[in-house]
Amino acid sequence: MNYQGLADEVIAGMSINQTTADQLINISDADIFPLLVAANRLRQHYKGNRVKFCAIVNAKSGRCSENCSFCAQSAHYQTACQVYPLMTKTEMADNAKAAEKNMSATCFSIVTAGKTVHADQEIAAIGSAVETIARETNLNRCVSLGTLNSEQIKGLKTAGLKRLHHNLETAKSFFAQVCTTHTYEERLATIKLAQAEGLEICSGGIFGLGETPAQRVELAFTLRELNVNSVPINILNPVPGTPAAANHHPLSPFAVLKLIAVYRFILPAKDIGLFGGREKALGSLQPFMFIAGANVTLVGDYLTTKGQSSDKDLQMIKDLGLKIDYV
Ligand code: SF4
Repeated sequence: MNYQGLADEVIAGMSINQTTADQLINISDADIFPLLVAANRLRQHYKGNRVKFCAIVNAKSGRCSENCSFCAQSAHYQTACQVYPLMTKTEMADNAKAAEKNMSATCFSIVTAGKTVHADQEIAAIGSAVETIARETNLNRCVSLGTLNSEQIKGLKTAGLKRLHHNLETAKSFFAQVCTTHTYEERLATIKLAQAEGLEICSGGIFGLGETPAQRVELAFTLRELNVNSVPINILNPVPGTPAAANHHPLSPFAVLKLIAVYRFILPAKDIGLFGGREKALGSLQPFMFIAGANVTLVGDYLTTKGQSSDKDLQMIKDLGLKIDYV
């Protein structure tokens, strides 16, 4: 396949179709470098040499009613995950300030376990933390709180929220094998509600659950249709006790790079990031995530697993000649 020619067509405004995307994600490992070079050209065209660093705080952990097969925080599984109630608004804001100061984060997300945040006082505390972050940092403000209604979204937006994170997790055709306690349609509804209120959307998925390459592509096309702003790609870092750990389908480093590159072809102008599991999934090939088309990554720790030190991340982007894109 002529990858450079395909990149030319994308830059000229053409959208690649699902058949081409399926071919791209299934190329042989021997063909991967020309694909990466073409995806890198797309990244440079749309994003220049700027990358974004997202950071998160797990503000309320564990005892979730849902049964997402990969999640250490689900009450359905026996894991060693920490369980604690919502942090105070000061703790949440202090985590954001530390992420900006110590990790050069450009975006910060307050994440809570659970299908939704029911309690008004919890939403009020999160809103108050968002207000402080908006006032005292230059961070882009994001939350990941599960299902939300429009009143809650409006209140958080008034407090200074810019972006909602709400992963679709996987393709619609595979979702029932990942979660049975809520539907794909519920996830789509929250995204559409937040878009209607004017929030940016960060939504992606987790891979290595047994989905096929065609289902990885299917998710990217759903995200394109939804016109989300940012797409986090997570690679399963299996947590003992979860069904996904017992049924892990690991992706090779090249499979991860092909996935990122194909997402860059399908969603050329969007922010695309390799988030959870990147250290284990790519190992010594981590810098190649940017060559494959990523322009965002998650710094610091993940929700329930450790990330590499931010010094290493800063050195990696410096060595690649990239710069942090401060908001
Ligand atoms: S992914 Fe979210 S909704 Fe699913 S079990 Fe984990 S915390 Fe609950």
